[in-house]
Amino acid sequence: MTPEEFRRYGHEVVDWIADYSERIREYPVLSRNKPGDLTRALPGSAPETGEPMDAILNDFRNLIVPAITHWNHPAFLGYFATSGSEPGVLGEMLTAGLNVNGMLWKSSPAVTELEQVTLSWLRQWLGLPDTFFGLIYDTASTSTLHAVVAARQMADPADIANLVLYCSEQAHSSVEKAAVTAGICRSNVRKIGVDEAFRLRPLLLSNAIEQDRAAGRQPFCIVATVGTTAMASTDPVEQIADIAALHNIWLHVDAAYGGSAAILPEMAHVMNGCGRAHSLVVNPHKWLLTPVDLSVFYTSRPDILRRAFSLVPEYLRTEDNPEAVNLMDYGFQLGRRFRALKLWFVMRSYGRAGLAEIIRGHLELAQEFAGWVRGDIRFELCAPVDFSLVCFRYCGSDADNQKLLDAINQSGTALLSPAVFGGRMLLRLAIGNYRTTRNDLRRVWDCLGLLADQLVLSGGTLDSRR
Ligand code: PLP
Repeated sequence: MTPEEFRRYGHEVVDWIADYSERIREYPVLSRNKPGDLTRALPGSAPETGEPMDAILNDFRNLIVPAITHWNHPAFLGYFATSGSEPGVLGEMLTAGLNVNGMLWKSSPAVTELEQVTLSWLRQWLGLPDTFFGLIYDTASTSTLHAVVAARQMADPADIANLVLYCSEQAHSSVEKAAVTAGICRSNVRKIGVDEAFRLRPLLLSNAIEQDRAAGRQPFCIVATVGTTAMASTDPVEQIADIAALHNIWLHVDAAYGGSAAILPEMAHVMNGCGRAHSLVVNPHKWLLTPVDLSVFYTSRPDILRRAFSLVPEYLRTEDNPEAVNLMDYGFQLGRRFRALKLWFVMRSYGRAGLAEIIRGHLELAQEFAGWVRGDIRFELCAPVDFSLVCFRYCGSDADNQKLLDAINQSGTALLSPAVFGGRMLLRLAIGNYRTTRNDLRRVWDCLGLLADQLVLSGGTLDSRR
């Protein structure tokens, strides 16, 4: 591709993205494709000779886009909804253009230094101690895996089969996956019970640790969550930190979703106790307008993390200079993308106040939606609304709720996701897109009401209606 062609197609692609953003409400949220539709529409083998860019872009528009579920849609309210903001997209484009690999400081100083600078800014916004050392990984799953490996390093076990990890029964599955990946027996992952607000119960945690100790096992890691996946509950981190300190156990905090809220002064309390953690993860790709993927990992013990991961082959040796941090020493990956660039674009373009205003808007919208649920006899609210997640259910059977979820998702009007608590199916509505307005939510709520009535008319159960 010549520079002139690149310029032409580059403009075309940027125009497409801008139009896409502007007209995002015209798309069905959930892709209408059936499994295998796209695969069957594409050739079974790659072209032998290059194809014209016009043909590739046509296929992008006609084949790929229909197979997209639109996370950018303001009525995408499932999982944890996100925003790939325009400043973030521009940063991502430049990252691709530069195509650098920040494995060592000298392999591209900007990758290392901008990462350290942006994560220091973010640390200040989140109210975390300046002793926290930050790193960018792809996802919270990877960040938590690094925490578990560092915890294992600190425990220095005589027998890895003895190590025990603790988290609440509401913790994300990535915690258990991290444990298993780090060689911890699955039967040594203790899922501690929660209270009526779905928060880990410290007394049960203490008891479990004591019991494991008495049985000759080695408690080595506790994972607390700020903003759990199903209910957005927040574990009592301060009390958990006391327990971790008492037993000299690594404390990791999964603030992948909820942590971003701490940039609001009125939400700073969600980080209470987190400064005492050995590590913490927060995902700007969830709620800080940064395009997927970008997960931030902080640790107060970079020395231990480094001990776990520093293994330098001869060809990568560089002279020692404390100012020239080699990020490859702090994780299992060697190569690393220039992810900090898009975060830097987002942080500078919005500023703390700008991002806080958007998150505050989401919190207010969630309260308003929860009010509509409370005021409607057909529905019930299932959890406190502390963040931007509303957990609710139709007052009927699980099968009714599943039908309702399928119906709204298939309609293309919105995308919600399910959760199960206490054996009951719940609907989750998570607000995280800067485009989502009150009108968008009102449309979703009206649609849910209409579909619920249709469900009743078509024989859905009414027995458990209040
Ligand atoms: N932790 C929590 C609380 C989550 O809700 C999620 C995903 O939604 C994760 C971790 C995993 O995130 P990632 O997809 O970045 O690995």
